[in-house]
Amino acid sequence: MLEAQALTRVFGSTTVLDEVTFSVSPGRITGFVGANGAGKTTTMRILMGVLGATSGEVRWKGAPITAEVRRTFGYMPEERGLYPRMKLRDQLVFFARLHGLSTADARARTDHLLGHFGLTDRSADLLDELSLGNQQRVQIAAALVHRPAALVLDEPFSGLDPLAVDSMVDLLRAEAGDLPLLFSSHQLDLVERLCDDLVVLAGGRLVAAGSVSELRGRGAERYRVVLDGGDAAWLRDVRGLEVVDVDGSTALVTLAGMPASELVSAAVAHGPVVEVARVRQPLSEIFREVTR
Ligand code: ATP
Repeated sequence: MLEAQALTRVFGSTTVLDEVTFSVSPGRITGFVGANGAGKTTTMRILMGVLGATSGEVRWKGAPITAEVRRTFGYMPEERGLYPRMKLRDQLVFFARLHGLSTADARARTDHLLGHFGLTDRSADLLDELSLGNQQRVQIAAALVHRPAALVLDEPFSGLDPLAVDSMVDLLRAEAGDLPLLFSSHQLDLVERLCDDLVVLAGGRLVAAGSVSELRGRGAERYRVVLDGGDAAWLRDVRGLEVVDVDGSTALVTLAGMPASELVSAAVAHGPVVEVARVRQPLSEIFREVTR
């Protein structure tokens, strides 16, 4: 388990991180979200030891982290870190060797990842000859090449089209396995699809952390009521529920004291009903609520 414990960072007179505490568990994909300037990159740099904390501590498996442990991590920094004019295969082998793999192992691991990432036939190409999507793939391959003990990825999906995102997500799931994996993103739909856990920062403070389902559970239960024609606005007058939105014969409601079974009976008593279904609150709304 990778832990941030009361991490604080002050630049000049500005506190950009304020006592931020959270953990990233093995085998869980943890999404790191927050508006621009919330402090995500600063936190990741501190986790990786690229930047020092003003106070607080990074812990690994229950003990203060060491430089040696950090060297085993895979990191995809915001500023990226590969050589634009170096051939892909040479570059990945180089990074694997840098992390202590033997030449034979480094080559085998590189070839495995190039194959897995669909880049085998580009092995001899220079990084800057690749499309943005393929360059991102190589960045992730570089973070994975030495079989890291944890992964810290700063905006790994930025600039990718939805298909490229999907294939990258599959690759990460397959390759990250049991590792703690923290990644930052502004794409909440993607975070929702990919993450088990979530850490939310706002203005340098932690505003929420926990499993996605826990965070969802904080909000009121929502139901969609679809009538067989007619206007659903009458639901506004029903006691025990709150109408979030009405669009013709469809209404979105939250229960405020009324059991779900009563909602069904009330709807049916009023006329023909097509559907009463529980709906999940989208992460974007949870995000807005906690960062408000
Ligand atoms: P984004 O989503 O835009 O990448 P972020 O959540 O990653 O944002 P950070 O890059 O960590 O946020 O920045 C947090 C705050 O710290 C910002 O206000 C930024 O200007 C400030 N900051 C970061 N690095 C420095 C620095 N070296 N000196 C002064 N201020 C800094």
